[in-house]
Amino acid sequence: MVWRCSGCRSIRPSPVQRDRIETMFSAAYQIRSAVQRDARDRARAYWAACHERARDATAARERLGLSKTGLEYAAYGHLDAAPHLRRATTKAVAMHLADSVWAATERHLFRDATGKRHGMPRPGSWFDFTRIPGRAKSHTTERKWETFRLHGSLAGHRAAYTTSDGRFRQPDHLRPVTTATRGWWRYTGPLAVVFTGLPIGTLVLPVRLPAAPSNQPILDHYLADATRWHKIDLVRHRDPTAAGGWRYEAHLLVLAPPYESPTTHARRVVAAATTATRRAGIDVNVSNITVASHAGGRDLQITRVVHDQSARQAIATRATRQKRHGRRLDRSRRASNPEHYELSARQQRHNERRAANGRAPAQMIPRGPRKRRGNGAPQSAYRHDALSNAYRRERAAAARDAEAASQARRELARQIAARFVRDHGCSFVVEDCNLTSWSRRWGARMAAFTPGLLVTALEREAVAVARLAAIAGGIDRAATRTTALSQHCLCGQRVPKSLGERTHACGACGLRGNRDAVSATLAACVVFATPGEPASATLDGERARALLDAPHTRSRLLATLPYAFHGRQDVRSESTVPSARDGWSIADMGPTPDLVVVARRIVGTASYPTLDERGGSHRHTTPERVRTRTNLFRTPVTWTELRNSS
Ligand SMILES: [Zn+2]
Repeated sequence: MVWRCSGCRSIRPSPVQRDRIETMFSAAYQIRSAVQRDARDRARAYWAACHERARDATAARERLGLSKTGLEYAAYGHLDAAPHLRRATTKAVAMHLADSVWAATERHLFRDATGKRHGMPRPGSWFDFTRIPGRAKSHTTERKWETFRLHGSLAGHRAAYTTSDGRFRQPDHLRPVTTATRGWWRYTGPLAVVFTGLPIGTLVLPVRLPAAPSNQPILDHYLADATRWHKIDLVRHRDPTAAGGWRYEAHLLVLAPPYESPTTHARRVVAAATTATRRAGIDVNVSNITVASHAGGRDLQITRVVHDQSARQAIATRATRQKRHGRRLDRSRRASNPEHYELSARQQRHNERRAANGRAPAQMIPRGPRKRRGNGAPQSAYRHDALSNAYRRERAAAARDAEAASQARRELARQIAARFVRDHGCSFVVEDCNLTSWSRRWGARMAAFTPGLLVTALEREAVAVARLAAIAGGIDRAATRTTALSQHCLCGQRVPKSLGERTHACGACGLRGNRDAVSATLAACVVFATPGEPASATLDGERARALLDAPHTRSRLLATLPYAFHGRQDVRSESTVPSARDGWSIADMGPTPDLVVVARRIVGTASYPTLDERGGSHRHTTPERVRTRTNLFRTPVTWTELRNSS
């Protein structure tokens, strides 16, 4: 049994219901803020009591009420002290809000597996408060489901909204769902989210389901069996087009395995029958991914993920739109807070001219930098700025665009993962590298390419196919230290190369190929002494040697070479200014024998390669932010260097 969210069920409340939901969110926000303040004060007292903590930390937390129950009682206290909030919310909701605050507090008090602690809990912003958690239904006690409950049935819903010509269609304004005479537990009409226990009466919200024919099997899978419904959260999103600026959804958690469409199932069955026994290796890079696989040391196949023109175009369009949002937000912020910004040099000159003519300074939106203190920090923190409604609408629109973009990227990653598994089987080996540190160095490029997303999608697909084939599949991570795939050849010889060298040429066996392709081929020959333990990975020299001697291996690796002739992929960002903007994306694969142009176009030349992957270089790439601001294309020559050379 898998815990699975079936996605969003949109709620279209009437004005009266909308008002009640807004009051409910307002009350819940007040309770949550009060509990967050309590948690912050208690955490401060806890850290200050160093002697008491040293003696017995658990007793100190207990005394201060720093526990789940402690915060729950704090929430009850606030609710009792503010009876007006009882009109819109209940004790059960207060308890769940306190539990969510405790989850954050716990992360602050205790270290996680990596030894890190989160920051001090503090009251969140009203605009970031988007979820009222519900309580899970009891699956042992009949009719026990507090806070938000889903009533009705999918069949009843379809019956109510099927037109005379047999189409499932929900009108713009859903009919209000009336309380059944026999009570909610026996109600089987159109679906509705019900919230009981309020003094001003039960809140009943009609539910809108996705009506497209393609969505109907998904609805059947998740909603047909009411005994699997588990929990409902009430969620809101900023939506500039919705009345009141918020869109409301009920998020239903269903106890069911993930939905698998017939097409997906058929594809997985074919993959399980044909390619499941292949072993594949992945070479992940900042801006491309290469996969190589073999079947028992023969038939080497290589695929490389690159971007195509349309994906590049889409990214460029997205970047333009993002820039436009950014400009509008900046203009709006400056207009609302002119006292925190300097006038630009031009504006100052303008005012000086007016002063010389005996006129008062002009009123204008300042275009200069933010006013700063001596240490460079802003004179007034950004969070204290006044923000207009237009600003909030713009920000919501920007967030909506970003959400759509990330959804598109996820979908693309899913499609590519499906093709990888179809062609290369379901047992992958990837180098165990820290993508977080990569994104710190190559942030913009990583964000456009998102290799982590693709690896995650690949793992999910591989596991699903392996389950069908009844074998152990998925992605194994191999430690770089024990394998050093980029520094070896299939013949076992060490072929050292820096990150700037994109070709592999072995002096011992004469193998030539793209460095990533050779690395991925070696990854396909990695074995594990202990499954699931990256440090136990070693290169199986015998298998690599057999693969090298197999027919077609050399020619297929040689065919990957033209990738490298089109330029290095990891050059300093200064030398690639125009293409750093258009970005990279996962888009299409270049199959091995087909020599399509796959590498990026390099504009200008790099004076030296980017920092070594072993981290020994003193030269760092210029962060995107600095480059944009200074328009710094090359490292300027300093005066001291000029003096020394003379
Ligand atoms: Zn060799």
